[in-house]
Amino acid sequence: MHEAAVAQGLIEAILCEAEKQGGRPIRARMSCGTLNAVNDEVVRFAFEAIAEGTVCEGMTLEIEHKPLQAKCRTCGGTYIVTLSDARCPRCAGTDFELLPDAPLVLDEIEFEKE
Ligand SMILES: [Zn+2]
Repeated sequence: MHEAAVAQGLIEAILCEAEKQGGRPIRARMSCGTLNAVNDEVVRFAFEAIAEGTVCEGMTLEIEHKPLQAKCRTCGGTYIVTLSDARCPRCAGTDFELLPDAPLVLDEIEFEKE
């Protein structure tokens, strides 16, 4: 299951960072793209299950979904693509190139302040 692997990877990265920082993590923010999107509920559920018994237990996980973008070959503009309407909002052109989807990354970890 994709989400469980994502949650496992997040916990491992956070634990590794917590060890370096010597603090207790209280909040983490991850982001993902559109094509490699995760189901927030499932990731949170897996995250909580894996976090149990570690310093990550009880921390908040924020998940940001980044939209898919395209570059219009007609006017050169970049815009957010929706699956229902992929046309360029500027010139209504349909000749476009999809930009790389945002990667699935751990953006930020916040540690408890002393
Ligand atoms: Zn255009």
